Amino acid sequence: MMGRSHAALGAAVILGVGLVLPHPTAASILSGLVVGVGGSLLPDLDEDGSTVSRVGGPATRLVGWATGKLAGGHRHATHSLLGAAVFGLAAMLLAHFRLAEGLICFAFALLTVRALIPRVLRWSTIATWALAAGAGSLAAASLSPGRFGLLVALGCLVHLVGDMATAGGVPLLWPLPRKIAFPVLGHTNSVREHVVALGLLGLVVFFGDVTLHRLVISHYTAPGLLASTIHPLHSFASWLSTTVQAHR
Ligand SMILES: [Zn+2]
Repeated sequence: MMGRSHAALGAAVILGVGLVLPHPTAASILSGLVVGVGGSLLPDLDEDGSTVSRVGGPATRLVGWATGKLAGGHRHATHSLLGAAVFGLAAMLLAHFRLAEGLICFAFALLTVRALIPRVLRWSTIATWALAAGAGSLAAASLSPGRFGLLVALGCLVHLVGDMATAGGVPLLWPLPRKIAFPVLGHTNSVREHVVALGLLGLVVFFGDVTLHRLVISHYTAPGLLASTIHPLHSFASWLSTTVQAHR
């Protein structure tokens, strides 16, 4: 699966999980989205040209090269249940060091912004970096090491499901070599994959819209909420009016 498809799947799952949380806050949703999407790209660190390996230039490329060597190549150790657990544990440990956590969150936020916001809406590189810096710092400040690790592991598991849907499959039970696949999407980068990724992005917009409503309206009923969230602009308008009224 391509990086953008993994990010769309990760974002849809995280926002979907967020919808069933009893009392979401803007900080918990945004930080979950950033770390969940970052985690959903992480297993491809074993491949030199992948989205996640390229995010930080030569520094992440070097980490990617070393990960690929250690993991035994692309779609090996990092694409397994054990790999997801190791990534989650490593993230939890690194989250105890502020600089490391901050850098990882910034890289994850940059990946999230690039994957979910079309280039034409991002204005400029500086605007993209500024948005990523804001979202990344919020994620680093609001997540405990335990939650950080859990979200990374969840993102990795979502990645495995995405790759299992392609013809190559993944060695889910590594070190057992057998690859597991349900290749409904055919080969990576297939037309089918792009159509599904587009549908997932539509789902992300819809879930994001419903989430925005939940954050604005404290007393709601789920069916009424779903019925009233057809138009994203409507959500944005209600959020804006509530924010303006709150600051009066
Ligand atoms: Zn992969």
